[in-house]
Amino acid sequence: MNGALAPYAANWQSSKGRRHSEAPPNYRTEYQRDRDRIVHSAAFRRLEYKTQVFVNHEGDMFRTRLTHSVEVAQIARSISRILNLNEDLVEAIALAHDLGHTPFGHAGQDALNRCMADYGGFEHNLQSLRVVDELEERYAEFSGLNLTYESREGILKHCSPGRASELGELGQRFINKQQPSLEAQLANVADEIAYNNHDMDDGMRAGLITLEQLCEMPPFAEQYELVIGQYKALSERRAIHEVVRRMINCQVTDLIDTSRANIESASPENIDQVRHQPQPLIGFSDDMQRYNLELKRFLRTELYQHYRVRRMSTKADRIIRSLFEIFVDDPRLLPPDYNRKVSQMEKCEGETGRARVVADYIAGMTDRYAIGEFERLFNPSQLT
Ligand code: MG
Repeated sequence: MNGALAPYAANWQSSKGRRHSEAPPNYRTEYQRDRDRIVHSAAFRRLEYKTQVFVNHEGDMFRTRLTHSVEVAQIARSISRILNLNEDLVEAIALAHDLGHTPFGHAGQDALNRCMADYGGFEHNLQSLRVVDELEERYAEFSGLNLTYESREGILKHCSPGRASELGELGQRFINKQQPSLEAQLANVADEIAYNNHDMDDGMRAGLITLEQLCEMPPFAEQYELVIGQYKALSERRAIHEVVRRMINCQVTDLIDTSRANIESASPENIDQVRHQPQPLIGFSDDMQRYNLELKRFLRTELYQHYRVRRMSTKADRIIRSLFEIFVDDPRLLPPDYNRKVSQMEKCEGETGRARVVADYIAGMTDRYAIGEFERLFNPSQLT
């Protein structure tokens, strides 16, 4: 099944390279090296204890950012192989795409963005790039992981035009309205397939949404009827799994067929022609796009806004805000290496530099570490 790389795929031999030049690897491709560096990074390990929707300590059965990233990589790699794209690059982007996420999922990200409003804001995609470009401290010759241009391009999914202008060549596509590689487009859509389906699965497992509610959406009801028709005595738990896996399969099949047709009609001859397309070429059919929108809307109102999820979100907001305020107010409360970074950053960027170091510290925390820091700083009976 694994054919030659398509001419429009990313090819490491014609990569735009790394920011710091390095000798080529002996037995791996450049994108395999990127993937390996991501897997060995501290930020990657911390994904295990960061919330997807449910806070990590709410139960062992729910997805975390780490298992989410592995699911994204699985979906993206399967599709990549069929489309003859670069599977190593797709995997690197998928595994790195959430490295910059704050603790407590979107509630944490929104809180930190509000805290940083006067200092340039906080965007998790930009933060993922910051992790791989600067924040990881592992290598003798450079800060960050020194990934290839193509991996960095894939990690930076979105970016406001203001911030894009500060990022040189990498930010240029947001200003010129160009597309990233097909591998980056694919990792992005695989993320959407993964979280829509596993949030639905986790939401049902937690008892926050029901099968009856989901059956109000025709594509879901259609698959459910097929499963129940074929396996009459199936337990609800197995029926849910069976429907979810079929839904993932429908979306993956739709994505492959639609993207293949898009690529055929645009017939790009190389990656540069992919970048100059007016629209992304990796995408769903109109029908599937409609279902995805409906599903997203449903999850937003029924799951992400569920009162039990909101109760956690409001706590997350208070924890992030309190930590930000106390550290910006007195950076001497930070661990010594972060306090030193504050002094360095303040020299060139003043108060903004101080706030950015505090945001880096908070964004790097796991859920439980953030809760621990909050306890140590605000609970008088807690030992520090
Ligand atoms: Mg994601």
